[in-house]
Amino acid sequence: MHRHLLTPLSPKNLKTNGFQGPLGPWRVQGRALAFLTSLAPQAPGNHSPVMDTHTTDVIVIGAGIAGATAAAQIAADHRVALLEAEDQPGYHTTGRSAAMWILNYGPADVRVLTGLSRLFFEAPPEGFTETPLMSQRPMCFLASVEQVAAMRGLLAEGIGLREVSVAQARAMVPALRPGYAVAAAVEDDAFDVDVAALHQGFLRLLRRRGGVLALRSRAGRIERRGGVGEVEVTGGAVFRAPVVVNAAGAWGDEVAVQAGVTPLGLQPKRRTGVIIDPAPWDVSAWPLVHDVAHTWYVRTEARTRLMVTPCDETDMQPHDVQPDELDVAIAIDRMQQALDIPVRRVERSWAGLRTFTPDRSLAIGWDRAAEGFLWSVGQGGYGIQTSPAAGRLVADLVAGRDPGPAAAALPMVNPGRFAVI
Ligand SMILES: Cc1cc2nc3c(=O)[nH]c(=O)nc-3n(C[C@H](O)[C@H](O)[C@H](O)COP(=O)(O)OP(=O)(O)OC[C@H]3O[C@@H](n4cnc5c(N)ncnc54)[C@H](O)[C@@H]3O)c2cc1C
Repeated sequence: MHRHLLTPLSPKNLKTNGFQGPLGPWRVQGRALAFLTSLAPQAPGNHSPVMDTHTTDVIVIGAGIAGATAAAQIAADHRVALLEAEDQPGYHTTGRSAAMWILNYGPADVRVLTGLSRLFFEAPPEGFTETPLMSQRPMCFLASVEQVAAMRGLLAEGIGLREVSVAQARAMVPALRPGYAVAAAVEDDAFDVDVAALHQGFLRLLRRRGGVLALRSRAGRIERRGGVGEVEVTGGAVFRAPVVVNAAGAWGDEVAVQAGVTPLGLQPKRRTGVIIDPAPWDVSAWPLVHDVAHTWYVRTEARTRLMVTPCDETDMQPHDVQPDELDVAIAIDRMQQALDIPVRRVERSWAGLRTFTPDRSLAIGWDRAAEGFLWSVGQGGYGIQTSPAAGRLVADLVAGRDPGPAAAALPMVNPGRFAVI
């Protein structure tokens, strides 16, 4: 099972480094919040659970990229508690992505938020990261004879795409088999994203702004009393805040139901990644190679390896999803129809849940019926590339600010569009 090399904010790290707000450790009801890192489930027979109540302005549930980007940006002017069920933020989908930024990808709201995120990726604030957040990796789309119409559609709609000859495509991807592609196009302005640096940067920003990350803190009971949301987490601690942001990824509808809020009909879908050694090919400078019908792609991983995916979308219940052997075999088979790469063995494989709303646009905004309940879910296959702008939009909604150019996405991402009238 592959996961991104996110430096885990382990309880040890957090105890020594964490929760230092501008005025020192945050104190709520006289206790330093640093103890939150020790909210592990109690061992059977150990009856000394830490029980405490913590009051903030905003609670964010889920510390993947959606929750981390929102929490850090909300924390510019609010007290924030970010709750994460696992002991590593990024354990689920955020740590399992292909880490690409592609403008010509996804529905209109995704393209707006992807475009608005670009400046952050290119020029993050001073001190945010020590490594660049993005590095250029063009996309090369291939069309077989049956996919020519799809290629025409892509070229007609896409921004910054140029048609190239099959010979030019083969110059970029020398393993391309003769006869597979009859048309090709290149999108130069696409990028690899350093997801670990992005995610850790936002979590550091949250901490610098006095926010709190509580790991091993699965939100269980969620109630609203007297205008204040109350969230009880693993181990019994209780968080209280007037605003609760649901950024629980595949668990978004579960969290809603726990809060007595009507679910949106989110559908988590499994996607598989497979790592192979492409020797004898040197793939370090290859573009991402995609068939235009989205049935497979390959992307260089760590300069010498290839990630292959069959672009699977199998409906799943939210859980710690694992790859299916059949999808691994399909990935290799589809790739090998196009590329002459011998696969001696699969080095590793993984799967992640890409979670979609019923219309595949994101859902960001206040619930139309439940006071103080804000959604940031349905990031699908675009949650990394949209995240700086999506997190900013959540922060603007919490603060009641004009979201500027992101307002163009608001009607498309409004969760109220799924409401049954
Ligand atoms: C194979 C693959 C390739 C991808 N490629 C790309 C790509 O190239 N570019 C791109 O932009 N996107 C890509 N994606 C999609 C992207 O990874 C996701 O959209 C994004 O990571 C979703 O982030 P999230 O924060 O919503 O979800 P998650 O990262 O899953 O975070 C949700 C968090 O909520 C926590 N949680 C759930 N319930 C509770 C609870 N009750 N209490 C507390 N915490 C809770 C979970 O533990 C989890 O950590 C890809 C995804 C996959 C699987």
